[in-house]
Amino acid sequence: MTNYKVKRTLMGQLPYGSDLYDGLTQIILRENICLGRIHGLGATTFARVAYYDQSTKTYNPLEFTGGMEILNLFGNVSMRDGKPFVHAHIVLGDPQGRVFGGHLMPGTKLFACEVFIEEFDGAELVRAREERTGLHLWTSGDLL
Ligand code: ZN
Repeated sequence: MTNYKVKRTLMGQLPYGSDLYDGLTQIILRENICLGRIHGLGATTFARVAYYDQSTKTYNPLEFTGGMEILNLFGNVSMRDGKPFVHAHIVLGDPQGRVFGGHLMPGTKLFACEVFIEEFDGAELVRAREERTGLHLWTSGDLL
């Protein structure tokens, strides 16, 4: 089993009004991070996520207008189409504390966001489309 070690940890906040997914992608490209882990928390003014329908193998979009808490943002960085790629899921809380979430899509606008990005040392993980699930999964690396 491959043992990944943390090479460095970036910690900071993303700008008010910025796009969460695009912002994360810009950081990993700028910092040349090909393998890593993303954690975050904060709040959105608008959120766009998706639910993956396993029968149709399509992402169905969901949108949340108004302020939502980012209770958890969790993701990873690996390679897709020859470039570092962010895959992240987000858990959102509404004013009553109800929880929603999904696969993070471009278009989520931030009120605030504090993120940790850990870069790992180790063999790259490469994504490619897998026929059975229709998802772009890791085709390299270990099956645990
Ligand atoms: Zn996903």
